[in-house]
Amino acid sequence: MAIKAIKGINDILPDVVGKWQLVESVARRIFSNFNFQEIRIPILEKTELFARSIGETTDIVEKEMYTFPDRNGQLLTLRPEATASVVRAFIEHKLHLQPAMRKFYTMGPMFRHERPQKGRYRQFHQINVEVFAMDDPMVDAEVIYMLLVFLEALKIPDIKLHINSMGCPDCRLPFRQSLADYLEGVSDKLCADCKRRRLTNPLRIFDCKVDSCGKLVENAPVLLDHLCHECEKNFQGVRDHLDSLAVAYTIDPFMVRGLDYYTRTTFEAITPHLGAQDAVGGGGRYDGLMKALGGPDLPGTGFAIGMERLILLLDDKAGAATDSHNLFVACLGEEAKKKGFSLVQELRLSGLSVEMDYESKSLKAQMRRADKLDATHVLILGDDELAKGAALLRDMDASTQEEISLKKIVEELLQRFKLEM
Ligand code: AMP
Repeated sequence: MAIKAIKGINDILPDVVGKWQLVESVARRIFSNFNFQEIRIPILEKTELFARSIGETTDIVEKEMYTFPDRNGQLLTLRPEATASVVRAFIEHKLHLQPAMRKFYTMGPMFRHERPQKGRYRQFHQINVEVFAMDDPMVDAEVIYMLLVFLEALKIPDIKLHINSMGCPDCRLPFRQSLADYLEGVSDKLCADCKRRRLTNPLRIFDCKVDSCGKLVENAPVLLDHLCHECEKNFQGVRDHLDSLAVAYTIDPFMVRGLDYYTRTTFEAITPHLGAQDAVGGGGRYDGLMKALGGPDLPGTGFAIGMERLILLLDDKAGAATDSHNLFVACLGEEAKKKGFSLVQELRLSGLSVEMDYESKSLKAQMRRADKLDATHVLILGDDELAKGAALLRDMDASTQEEISLKKIVEELLQRFKLEM
C-alpha cells in the first residue's frame, strides 16, 4: 500500500503555492515598512523551553505537543509556537545589547496534536511578529494596527478586532481568588478537565470548548474588572492610540488566549467566514516571559497569524501567476530537438520562462501541451525552418505566426516581450 502523509499534516501543491508566496511577500513588504527584521529560528527545541513559557497546565503543553526523546535521551519538541524560540534566541545572542534589533518577524511551520478540521491542522504555518524592550501602549497599538494593515492589504474581508487586558501579576492574584471562589460554587457542573483546571490553573477554564462550561464562564468574574490602576491606565492608553488610528475594536473580557505568558493587552482578529476556527491571528503582551526564561527583565509584545486560515480566506484569483510571457518551444525532428534544447537554456538564462517537450510528439500534441501550460507564444522549430536558419513564432492569443531569424532570436524575443536585455 502507498504511504500517505500523516493526518493533519498537509502538502501544499503548486496550484496554491502562488497564494502562499503572495502572503509571504505582502508580509515582508509591510513588516519592513514598520521596520521589522526577519529572524529564522529552529523547528526543534528543548521541551523545557515550551513547558516553561507556554505554561505546564495549558492545553498546548498538556495535550498537544509533539515531544520525543532524541537518540541521546534528550527530550525535544517540535515547536508549537514561535514566541518562546524568538525570546530564547534574543537572550542567547544577547540581542538586548544591540539596540538596532528590537522588532522581529518569522514565518514557518508549527506543530500541535489537535483534532484536525477545516482551519485546524497538526502542522500549520504561522507568521509571527515580536517586539522586545518597548512597553509604551503606543507599541501595542502599532502592532495591532500593522496586523490589520496586513490583512487589509490581502483583502481579507470582514475582520473584527477583539481586545482584552490580562492584567499583571499584581491584579491576577486577587482575581484568581475571586474566580476560584466562583468556580467552587459551580464545581459539580464543570467538565472533568475544568474540574482539574479549577485547582491547577483556573484561568484556563475560559479556553474550555465544552458548551456547559461556556455557559458557566459567562457569569464568571473577569480580569478586566480587577485591573490594578497601572494596568487600567495602560489599557486605556492602548485604546486611545487605537482610536487615534481609527481602528475599530470590541472589548471581549472572555478572551484569555490559550497561553499562560500573556500580560496586559491581548487581541484577536476574528472572521465570520471560517466556521468554528474563527481566529485569523492573535497575540498580546508578555512582559514577564524574557525574565522567566532566564534573560533580562525586558517586556515583549507580538502576534501570530495562521497562514492556512489566510489562504482559505483569500480571493480565488489571489496569487495567480502574472507572468505575462510564457514561451513554449515545439521541436519537430531530431536536429530541431537538439537545437531547441540549447536554445531553451539560452532563453531561460536571458530571463524568459520557457518550456519544451522531450518526447518527440506531433506538433498538434505539443501545441496542446503549450496551451495547457498557458504559453502565450510557441516557437516552432522544424528541420525545414532550421535549414533556413529560421523559426516560426506563434502568438497563441492572436492565432498568428511569423517567421523569425534564428541568428538574433534571443534579442528579438526579449525586444518583443519588452524585457531588459
Ligand atoms: P495561537 O498561537 O494559538 O495564538 O494561534 C495564532 C494563530 O495561529 C491562530 O489565530 C490561527 O490562525 C493559527 N492556528 C493556531 N492553531 C492552529 C492549527 N492547529 N491549525 C491552523 N492554524 C492554527
